[in-house]
Amino acid sequence: MREPTHKSGQAGEDQRFMHAALREAGRGALEMEVPVGAVVVKEGRILARAHNRPISTRDPIAHAEILALRRAARKLGNYRLNECSLYVTIEPCAMCAGAIVHARLKQVVFGARDPKAGASGSAQKADCVEVCRTCSKISSTVESSSRAGATSAATGAV
Ligand SMILES: [Zn+2]
Repeated sequence: MREPTHKSGQAGEDQRFMHAALREAGRGALEMEVPVGAVVVKEGRILARAHNRPISTRDPIAHAEILALRRAARKLGNYRLNECSLYVTIEPCAMCAGAIVHARLKQVVFGARDPKAGASGSAQKADCVEVCRTCSKISSTVESSSRAGATSAATGAV
C-alpha cells in the first residue's frame, strides 16, 4: 500500500486513476454516503469502479474498496487480482486491508491518510497491514508479501 508517487511516468498514471476514484467519491457524496471512491486497474485500464454505499444498501461492509474488488473479480472470473492495482481516495480500513490481502492485489495507492480508521499505520496495525506498509516502499514485492499476510491471517496472527 502506498501513497501516489511523484516520479515521472508513474505519476501521470497515478493521477489519472486517482481522479477516477475521486469522481466515484463525488458520486458517493451525492448519495449522502461517506465520500470514498475506488477503482481497480489492470494493464492501464479501469476494470471496476465503486463508491461507498453502506447507507443506501444497509450493508456495513459496502465500502468502496470491497465493492470495486467484487466487481473486478466478477469481471475476471477470479478472486485473485494479482495483475490489478487498487486506487482509493483514502487509506483503507482494517476490513478493506484484509480484503486487499485476500485479493492478492499487485499494489494499492491511496490518496490521503485516515487518522481515524486507516489500517496502513495511521490508526491501526495488523499483521496484514505491516505487510502493506512494506509494499508501500517496494511495490514489486506486493504479491509475495500478500501471500505472507494471508498466511499470518490464516494462523490467527491478525
Ligand atoms: Zn474499508
